[in-house]
Amino acid sequence: MLVLHQVHKTFSTPQGTLPVLNGINLTLQQGDSLALMGESGSGKSTLLHLAAGLDLPSDGEICIDGHALSSLDEPARARLRRQSLGLVFQQFHLVPSLSVIDNLRLQARLAGREDAEWTAHLMARLGLSGRETYYPEQLSGGQQQRLAIGRALAARPRLLLADEPTGNLDEQSADTVLGLLLDLVKETHCALLMVTHSARVAAPLDRLVHLHLGRLEDNAS
Ligand code: ADP
Ligand code: MG
Repeated sequence: MLVLHQVHKTFSTPQGTLPVLNGINLTLQQGDSLALMGESGSGKSTLLHLAAGLDLPSDGEICIDGHALSSLDEPARARLRRQSLGLVFQQFHLVPSLSVIDNLRLQARLAGREDAEWTAHLMARLGLSGRETYYPEQLSGGQQQRLAIGRALAARPRLLLADEPTGNLDEQSADTVLGLLLDLVKETHCALLMVTHSARVAAPLDRLVHLHLGRLEDNAS
């Protein structure tokens, strides 16, 4: 589903070059869930951006669904993102001018994969039935993140990439949102790569890896 082979990433900064990822190897199979932990600034978000094809590695190869990202131009990468990936961020990134239901449908529309029955099912699973015509600002933080998760899964992607999806929520909402995310990932047989700095959040996932000094260290989970 997702393969990173000898991935390096170096940023150019006014202070000089900054090596962030230094030979990352990672394989995620269909239906696998993996927690990516590491200190702030260790490169977790950088790795997720590369996995999403939002940025390109300095060296090495990344394959999504059997497609080598380096062999695709940006429009082709964007198409692959729409068809195969769901993305969830710490900031919910909902569209404020769109209603709840239109936010939910957005990704599926872009992927040309709208499915009214699945949308209605998702609304119920998200606990948002009856709030179709609300706007994001009328929802609590937990509800907004639930909606963002639903939007990411509306097109039934094969891989969900989540960057600290519960980082902006209080502990109780975080637990609800995480439980829902994991249930929906199972239900859709989606693979999950989730960045978190919380061992509690990482615990229910199949595998746990630590990013340290630009390399991945495997942990028994
Ligand atoms: P994490 O998500 O683990 O906190 P990041 O991946 O956001 O870490 O950042 C890793 C390092 O790379 C940090 O030192 C950060 O300042 C640097 N970095 C991230 N993106 C860029 C960029 N576009 N240009 C320059 N440096 C960057
Ligand atoms: Mg980060």
